[in-house]
Amino acid sequence: MNRKDFFKTSILGAAAVAAAPSLLASCCGPKKAGTGAKLNVCLQSGKAIGESYAEQLDYCESLGVTGFEPGGRELVSDFDNLAKAIEGRNIKIAAICAGFDGFILADDPAQKEAFDTSMRRIVEAAGAIGSTGVIMVPAFSRQEPCKPNNQETYDYLCEQLHELGEFAVKCGTTVILEPLNRRECFYLRLVSAAAAICRDSKSEGVKCMGDFWHMQEETSDYAALMSARDYLQHIHIASRKNRCNPGEDGEADNYVDGFRALKEMGYDKYISLECGNIGDPAVAIPAAVELIKNQWEQA
Ligand code: MG
Repeated sequence: MNRKDFFKTSILGAAAVAAAPSLLASCCGPKKAGTGAKLNVCLQSGKAIGESYAEQLDYCESLGVTGFEPGGRELVSDFDNLAKAIEGRNIKIAAICAGFDGFILADDPAQKEAFDTSMRRIVEAAGAIGSTGVIMVPAFSRQEPCKPNNQETYDYLCEQLHELGEFAVKCGTTVILEPLNRRECFYLRLVSAAAAICRDSKSEGVKCMGDFWHMQEETSDYAALMSARDYLQHIHIASRKNRCNPGEDGEADNYVDGFRALKEMGYDKYISLECGNIGDPAVAIPAAVELIKNQWEQA
């Protein structure tokens, strides 16, 4: 399905409904605890070296990277090119990194409407390209006016996510809550809190993730990730002091405790580099992929 066809087709159209069950089996189905863990390293589109998608995907494949994470705006605007570039390769579109307008907890109806419209467009595109889900944050600390952080807002968030999650299921994909840290998102900063929202949203299409950079607020990588075992759909990784390539912060870049949780729960989704560079990326990225493979073995 190309972009033109995809935007012409309503989500309730035959093509989308026909595609949903097979995609759902890989995106939203229950995991068997402790079995089937598989390391799938992923690069965000800004990380993969190359001038075109073809060059970037060649680069990923040369490193044994099996996932590619574009932004939501990029996915929607460049859908045809991306879908064509990925065809027949040993690499898939992993999660989609945000890219929507507005935010789900906006108090301003216009901002909420902007979120609803743009997020659903990205979710449709994500489903059509076989993505594992669209990453979202309920509200960045800087976003105002925002609903107050109280029980009423929590219930509202879960209701809204339920609707969005059910929409994502129909599209054959998910929405993925990303906890950040208190500076960026005081609303959601622990993996277990995101998992609780997934549970309370009561939709197979509402998932969460962990980001080893933001997880500096956690007391245990293992416990944080294990708390979300039923909902964990994606992982971001970066060096742990400067948010650069894993390994560029030396001894601090230890992910074994978290990887152990992923292996024990049978995690088979993606671990995606979301980070900058300290040194030459042509050296640091392959080294980071190697470090991840080695620590996964150790875990
Ligand atoms: Mg992240």
